[in-house]
Amino acid sequence: MKDTTRILHAGRHPEEQHGAVNPPVYHASTILAGSVADWKAQNARRAKDEVGTYYGRYGTPTTHAFEEAIAELEGGYRTLAYPSGLAACSGALMAYLRAGDHVLIADNVYGPTRHFADTFLMRYGVSVSYFDPALGAGIDALIEPRTRVVYLESPGSHTFEVADVPAIAAAAHRHDVIVISDNTWGTPLYYKAIAHGVDVSVHAATKYIVGHSDAMMGVVTTTRETWARLRDTYRQVGFSAAPDDVYLALRGLRSMAVRLPVHWASGVRLAQWLQEQPEVERVMHPALPGDAGHALWRRDFLGATGLFGVCLKASVSQPAMEALFDALALFGLGASWGGFESLILPTEVARSRTATAWQPAGPVFRIHAGLDAVDDLIADMVQGFAALRGHSG
Ligand SMILES: *Cc1c(COP(=O)(O)O)cnc(C)c1O
Repeated sequence: MKDTTRILHAGRHPEEQHGAVNPPVYHASTILAGSVADWKAQNARRAKDEVGTYYGRYGTPTTHAFEEAIAELEGGYRTLAYPSGLAACSGALMAYLRAGDHVLIADNVYGPTRHFADTFLMRYGVSVSYFDPALGAGIDALIEPRTRVVYLESPGSHTFEVADVPAIAAAAHRHDVIVISDNTWGTPLYYKAIAHGVDVSVHAATKYIVGHSDAMMGVVTTTRETWARLRDTYRQVGFSAAPDDVYLALRGLRSMAVRLPVHWASGVRLAQWLQEQPEVERVMHPALPGDAGHALWRRDFLGATGLFGVCLKASVSQPAMEALFDALALFGLGASWGGFESLILPTEVARSRTATAWQPAGPVFRIHAGLDAVDDLIADMVQGFAALRGHSG
């Protein structure tokens, strides 16, 4: 079965929902047992780790439908839904680390994940170091006796380096180190993280899975071997995704396979147009031939999404870039991405890198190509660049 079919059917059980195509939103905390015997049976099923409706925090049939669908698309064992993408990142790290352990984190990691590691993990006695995401098998030399986790993000959501995940995972596994990867850019459709050696796959579902900029959600999918630790920590911490948000994520997921090709094609068109502008130093987009990550992207990914970066030349001032932003009518200025709308955002990552120098020549920004007609997006950019030129001239 193709994924474009699977994404419509995974996790659906209309026979359990009076035939309704989608599961309803269950608003529930208490789940009543019909009798003492039922109560005991329920507890026994829960103790055996069966998916079930035990208490609101354990999820309802809406949650389980969503988690089942993600697990199937990811080719994983089981999935848990978290209240945000960041909760999924931090929840995964907490699950596999304890005081005294060491974690290796890719230097291009999402800023708030880095902040979580540098504050929370450090406070709980975990030592954290960062590595060059281009290292590949060379990560072997950085693995210490206390290293328990390698944490990746490929491509990074600001600088778009693609890591050689199979090589990194092979080195990690030789030392019994668990590989966690944030795969938000690739989505469960375009990047099969677990098939590439990742043990624990994380997505900010807030982005393409929800797809409409109206809910926060994270998902973590594990292999069979890594499941118990994730589940236990999830329960210990009390993570729980809200029912309305889970419903929005499940609804978003069903149309993701038709949305992504548009984000992909428009992103590439915009990236190519931007590459031709004399003020542009470099476009960071793994689907562009000539991008440093292109060969790995072609080898490991099944598609590209709509997010990429643009480095301007040193001759372009920050205010000139800001004039471009303010002149745009179709690109909103705001955090996040993966919704139907187009976005632009200044990128400030140079300061946060510690393992690698990331020194762009001039100002940098990030674009999310939305579902607008790409000709309209390019026309908007044309008048945006006119404003940029007007400012610097
Ligand atoms: C947005 C994002 C997150 C965090 O997701 P939220 O839902 O905003 O908490 C994590 N990782 C990456 C790569 C992201 O882009």
